[in-house]
Amino acid sequence: MKYYNLKDRQEKVGFKTATIKGQGKEKGLFFPEKIPQFENKFIQNLHRLPDAEIAYQCMKDFVGDEIPGEILQKIVSETVSFDIPLKKISENISILELFHGPTLAFKDIGARFMSRCLSYFLKDHPKKVTVLVATSGDTGGAVAHGFYNIPEIDVVILYPQNRVSPVQEKQLTALGQNIFALEVNGSFDDCQNLVKQAFSNEEINDRLWLTSANSINVARWLPQQIYYLLALKQWQQQENEHPVICVPSGNFGNICAGLLAHFRGLPVDHFVAACNANDSIPNYLKTQNFNPQESVATLSNAMDVGNPSNFVRILELFSHQFDSLKNKVSGYSVDDKETLDTITKVYEEYRYILEPHSAVAFAAMLQYLNENPHKKGFILGTAHPVKFPEAVEKATRTKIKIPESLHQLMIKEKKTVKINSDFEELKRFLLNKNEKQ
Ligand SMILES: *Cc1c(COP(=O)(O)O)cnc(C)c1O
Repeated sequence: MKYYNLKDRQEKVGFKTATIKGQGKEKGLFFPEKIPQFENKFIQNLHRLPDAEIAYQCMKDFVGDEIPGEILQKIVSETVSFDIPLKKISENISILELFHGPTLAFKDIGARFMSRCLSYFLKDHPKKVTVLVATSGDTGGAVAHGFYNIPEIDVVILYPQNRVSPVQEKQLTALGQNIFALEVNGSFDDCQNLVKQAFSNEEINDRLWLTSANSINVARWLPQQIYYLLALKQWQQQENEHPVICVPSGNFGNICAGLLAHFRGLPVDHFVAACNANDSIPNYLKTQNFNPQESVATLSNAMDVGNPSNFVRILELFSHQFDSLKNKVSGYSVDDKETLDTITKVYEEYRYILEPHSAVAFAAMLQYLNENPHKKGFILGTAHPVKFPEAVEKATRTKIKIPESLHQLMIKEKKTVKINSDFEELKRFLLNKNEKQ
C-alpha cells in the first residue's frame, strides 16, 4: 500500500515511511492510495472470528509486506488485548466502551498499535529515537504507556502545569524509565509551540532523531477501524438493522476511521459527529462553509479543537462530494450545560455513568433519533468516568469508584522536570538527555 500526501499528491510513501515521518511536505496528511474492500463473507462471519483475527484482517492491506505477517499478528493481538464491550444503555442507544485499556482512554488502541510498529521499524536503527509530544491530557498517557520500556525509544512529554486532572498527571509522570515528563509553567498552546520549535531546530535535529506521535499519524489513525468491526460483531448478535454510530469528535480522527471502515464495506446506517461548543464541522454540514475557529475551553476538553486536522481526510474519502457526505454524516453541537444535564439524566434513568465526552455523544444521538425515530445505534465511549471526576460527581452526586489498576498508579511517586515556557530550557533538556546516553 502506498500513501499520498494530501497537500502534494506526487509525494508517495510506504507504511514504514508514513509511520516514521508522521506527515508529508508542507505538513500534509498521508492518505491510502486504495480503499481495500472487506469480503462479504468476512463481514457476515464476524461473530465467528476471534478479535485478534478481525484486527489482523482489518490492518494487513494497509501494512502490506512492510511488517511480516506473524509480527503484525502479534502487534494487533496486543493492540486489542483488553475488553471492548458493547453495552445497552436505553432501548435504542448502546455504548461501545473503549476505555478498558491501560490509560482508560480509547487513544490506547491507536497508541499501542503505533508504538509497536515504530519499535519494529526502528529495531536496527543505530541511534536512539526520541518521541516528543505535547499533551492536554489523554494523548500523553496513552503514548507514554504505548512506548513504556521499549529500549530503542525515549519519550518526552510536555504538559501544562496544574491543567491536567490528577489521574492524567499520574499516568504521565509515574512511569519513569524511558518516559520523561516535563511540567511546563504555561498553557497547552505553549507546550505545543515548544514542541514545534524543537522540530524545526537544526541543532536538536542534528544531534537527536526526533519523531512525533500525534494523532494524524496513519499508524494511530488506521487501527481505530478495528473497534468498529468489533462493535459490529457484537451488534449483529443483538440486532438486525444497521446501526447509527455516534462519535464524540475533536480532531475527527476517530470518526474518520469509522467512515473508512464503512467505505470498505462495514454496514452502518448513518454517522453522527458529536461536538461540544467547538462546532466548526456541525456548521459546515449545515452551511457547506468551513470556518475554522480558535478553540474554546469546555468540560469535554479532549474535543476542544477549532480546526480539526482530519477533516481533509473525510473530504477526500467522499471525493469532495458535499451531498454524499451530508447524506451519511450529521453533526450536532452540545454545550456544557446540556452535557452535565445528560450525565444527570442518564444516571437517574438508566443508572449508567457517562463522562463528559460520551455525554456529548449521548445528547447528539438523542437529537438525531428524535428526528429519525425507529432507528437504533450506539455511541463510542472514549474515556472512563474516573478521568473526569469533578464533572461526573457534580452531575450524579455520587462518588465514583476507582478501578484497582488506578489505585496502584495513584500511590506511585510523580517524577517530573519543571521548565518554563522557554525554548532554551527545552533545548538544554533534550541535548543533555542525549549526552547521558
Ligand atoms: C481525543 C479524544 C476525543 C476526540 O477524538 P478525535 O479522534 O480527536 O475526534 C474524544 N474523547 C476523548 C476522551 C478523547 O481523549
